[in-house]
Amino acid sequence: METLRDCPICGTTISDNAQTTCYPDGLFPGGILRVVRCSFCRISFLNPRLTLDENELFEDENDFYRISPEERDRQLVALMTMLDSLTVYAPRREKLLDIGCNRGVLLAAAQHLGWDPTGVELSSVAAAEARSTVGVPVYASLAEIPRTDRGFDLVIAWHVLEHTLDPVTFLRDAGSLLSDGGVLALQVPSFDFVEGFRERGQLGSIACSVHNFYLGEDGLTAVVNRSELKVKKLWNSADDLMLTAILATRESSTNVWRRATDALSHARHRRFA
Ligand SMILES: [Zn+2]
Repeated sequence: METLRDCPICGTTISDNAQTTCYPDGLFPGGILRVVRCSFCRISFLNPRLTLDENELFEDENDFYRISPEERDRQLVALMTMLDSLTVYAPRREKLLDIGCNRGVLLAAAQHLGWDPTGVELSSVAAAEARSTVGVPVYASLAEIPRTDRGFDLVIAWHVLEHTLDPVTFLRDAGSLLSDGGVLALQVPSFDFVEGFRERGQLGSIACSVHNFYLGEDGLTAVVNRSELKVKKLWNSADDLMLTAILATRESSTNVWRRATDALSHARHRRFA
């Protein structure tokens, strides 16, 4: 475990009287989680939290995501529907990256829909299974993905951001892999509806020791604003208690500069024509 002295987002020192809420740990019975809200950036995070090594160990050893063939088929159909709804935001149906691809069901769904999918998975056990069942490249981290001229048209990060140690760096790294016009689609359990999770007896699916960040609409927007991405569309749903967002690259200053000089030269051209 590690205890943070500073906010992992803005670096403000965590004061002794910082707003803290305790929840029972959804993963380890009897464990208590302390969720701290930063007094400066207002983002909520777990403190203390598991280290990256402890997280990796947990992901490799747990059977939580192991599914039966029938469940896999059911998920495959549901994920094809989900992917179809996201495809409208992508510039083209070509290269797709699934971050946190687990055992590869979404990669298989993407392949059925004509995408050329790639996966990223921290758990070596799940990654090996995804590779062998879907037959596409699956990397252990974003840094290992070979850089090509063209990036990914659709990057999916479903229930990943809340697990990261640094969501801003994660969004920067994931954003740098987007193609021109490409989008990043992500979903997290919405911290705005933490009481909804409790009422449905599902508190453990948001409050658990592998979730380092507790993001509602404001928290997610604040994290995105600190990266090079911008929110294109956002759904915060009280029905399924999920926060879903489509993110795109902010227009680069080079582009703004180029458009400004183009407009200027057109104006000059008109004047002297
Ligand atoms: Zn902060």
